[in-house]
Amino acid sequence: MKEIILCKYGEIILKGANRPEFEGALTRELKRRLAPYGRFSVRRAESTVYITPTDGDCDLDGAYETARCVFGFVGVTRAAECEKSMESILSVAREYLPPLMSFARTFRVDAKRSDKHFPKTSPEIAAEVGGAILSASPGLKVDLHHPDVMIRVEIRDRAAYVHAGQEKGAGGLPRGTSGRGLLLLSGGIDSPVAGYMMAKRGVEIEALHFESFPYTSERAREKVFTLAEQLCRYCSRIHIHVISLTKIQEELRRACSEEYFTLLLRRFMMKLAERCAKEYGCRALVTGESLGQVASQTMDALAVTDAATSIPVLRPLIGMDKEEIVEISRKIGTFDTSILPYEDCCTVFTPRHPKTRPTEEEILSEVAKIDFDALMDEAYATLYTETRRVSEQYL
Ligand code: ATP
Ligand code: MG
Repeated sequence: MKEIILCKYGEIILKGANRPEFEGALTRELKRRLAPYGRFSVRRAESTVYITPTDGDCDLDGAYETARCVFGFVGVTRAAECEKSMESILSVAREYLPPLMSFARTFRVDAKRSDKHFPKTSPEIAAEVGGAILSASPGLKVDLHHPDVMIRVEIRDRAAYVHAGQEKGAGGLPRGTSGRGLLLLSGGIDSPVAGYMMAKRGVEIEALHFESFPYTSERAREKVFTLAEQLCRYCSRIHIHVISLTKIQEELRRACSEEYFTLLLRRFMMKLAERCAKEYGCRALVTGESLGQVASQTMDALAVTDAATSIPVLRPLIGMDKEEIVEISRKIGTFDTSILPYEDCCTVFTPRHPKTRPTEEEILSEVAKIDFDALMDEAYATLYTETRRVSEQYL
């Protein structure tokens, strides 16, 4: 018996003339992600990608977990493949299904026949397979409404497939089909979630982290690299650019009014991010703000931040509550790292009473007190880049 993985397309099916481009991006990414698990054949047909091991050394468990994290699929399932005959289907069902149903008391069988030449109808196939299961395991019962296990038989172009229910895929659009974006990655809960959400919409994520050594520590930096590595479960590979804001922060403290520190710092961050985005081919910035969450995330504060850049700032969390963000953070596996208590450059020299309704004029008069361009150049010169790739420990 041959076991394979079936991955069902998500939104790609809605694409018209561009569909081949999306399909190409999806299979390229999938092949790259499967490479560590052995030699698989990857074939597309009928809005499905078939992942078939080509030899006995393939790690199907690893391939399955990986396929579930590749954006572009709504459903992923392991399935037994067999000839398109009722005899083969029944024999495979008897052999393949019992271990998958050991915990179940009830089941349902659905059949789907995209090959209309198959001599039996879908209800007939389902009834025969159901009958075979019942006679092999008399303790089981059929429940059409709330079955413990949903068995599916699919008669497709080249073969028939039997499986015990599909799991959700990662959804979204294939990596890179929406261009490249620069994620401003802090060590907090929000920005990794923002990166995940835009990656899900097909954005290839590149990251930028600001630090303020020695006010921020080596451990804080490592934490950010760990978060990037955890995100690679969905993003495959992330280049993380690191820029030091130490000089800028010391200069702001020396020359500017305290209540504007955060806003001025954010302005530098956005300008530096824009420069970095342009250099590395990113067409948008991605940040983790949620409206009203803190003083620097009011509408006025966001307007000031935006005025500092000329490229789009994508804020996928803008309308979400902290609770909703935390839920995603747990789901994608970044939460436990995010809550490690290391400092962030934004918490160095924080004002006691930050401005929540700043005007552009006020900001400009503060900016006039420092040599903005020289500070920009000096900070940008500190940029260095690390790369993190998908790691099995975070799958
Ligand atoms: P997070 O949980 O992502 O740190 P936050 O709620 O703490 O967000 P802020 O500190 O106001 O919010 O930061 C808002 C956004 O600015 C972050 O989501 C992130 O995109 C970016 N940001 C903040 N600090 C840094 C940093 N040190 N390096 C890079 N980007 C940062
Ligand atoms: Mg933060």
